[in-house]
Amino acid sequence: MARIGFIGLGNMGGPMATNLVKAGHDVTVFDLSEAALATLKEAGAQVAATAADAVKDAEFVVSMLPADKHVLGLYLDSEQGILPAIPEGALVIDSSTISAEAARELAQGVIGQGRRFIDAPVSGGVGGAKAGTLTFICGGDNADIEEARPVLEDMGKAVFSAGGHGAGQVAKICNNMLLAVLMAGTSEALQLGRKHGLDAKVLSEIMLQSSGRNWTLEVYNPCPGVMEGVPSSNGYNGGFLVDLMRKDLNLALKAAAGSESFTPMGEKAAELFDAHSENGAGSKDFSSIFDFFEQQGK
Ligand code: NAD
Repeated sequence: MARIGFIGLGNMGGPMATNLVKAGHDVTVFDLSEAALATLKEAGAQVAATAADAVKDAEFVVSMLPADKHVLGLYLDSEQGILPAIPEGALVIDSSTISAEAARELAQGVIGQGRRFIDAPVSGGVGGAKAGTLTFICGGDNADIEEARPVLEDMGKAVFSAGGHGAGQVAKICNNMLLAVLMAGTSEALQLGRKHGLDAKVLSEIMLQSSGRNWTLEVYNPCPGVMEGVPSSNGYNGGFLVDLMRKDLNLALKAAAGSESFTPMGEKAAELFDAHSENGAGSKDFSSIFDFFEQQGK
């Protein structure tokens, strides 16, 4: 069993760290939120007073923070960065969704200081984090990814190597751009059916058994009342926030601009999620885009 320092105990990081504790690892955690720390203490983790304290004896450091600035600040900030506190040779695993550029900058900083680094963003949502069935999409040296594998498998069901440092983040934003398009498209279709008097549950079942089948219909239906245990049936609370999806779409569109890729569907999805957020839904689960279609269709 490994000594693990875990930073960032939000919707995703909380259940991920809990699963590492359950698997028998020696886990020390830190978050800015006292409530998040209390939950992990209850689950059996050791709680550190600072991020640097959480990693000072670690063989593995896992971070699960919102965006580029939080991750770069955590490790590389000239005054408060925790990199000097991490033991030499330790393996840093950043599972946040950040830009490929930030992941490469971080890799360079971490490796330059004698530690090791992989980017390992995840797919599978809060449900996957709780159930320990996440998919890890890694970028970095294969030997480091293989060393991380047993730890990642205690939080997930699949570990992929997408290529070198930053490649995990590129694969992740390709996936999330597609997810945004699928969620918007599924919401659009359900709204169209409802306007014609169809029952959303029946229509969902029909599309699930037809060529429109996709992940949102399988496990994350956006229409309230169709599926139990998903954000749409809980006031769109918890889950994956609209503003985090907007962040991922921005990352995808920036990556597209930098590579002269053609991404009109991603652009349209970004436009829709931006408008939804401007209406005040930024902190709702991203499946609430269904609500936006319902409102616009009135
Ligand atoms: P969240 O906002 O619920 O949690 C982020 C946590 O980081 C919070 O608890 C916050 O207090 C903490 N934090 C921020 N700055 C910190 C610092 N300097 N030191 C310590 N703690 C700090 O976000 P989340 O939903 O858990 O998402 C985390 C990452 O995972 C994001 O990059 C997101 O895009 C990605 N992601 C989320 C989902 C999802 O379904 N929620 C799915 C896949 C990937």
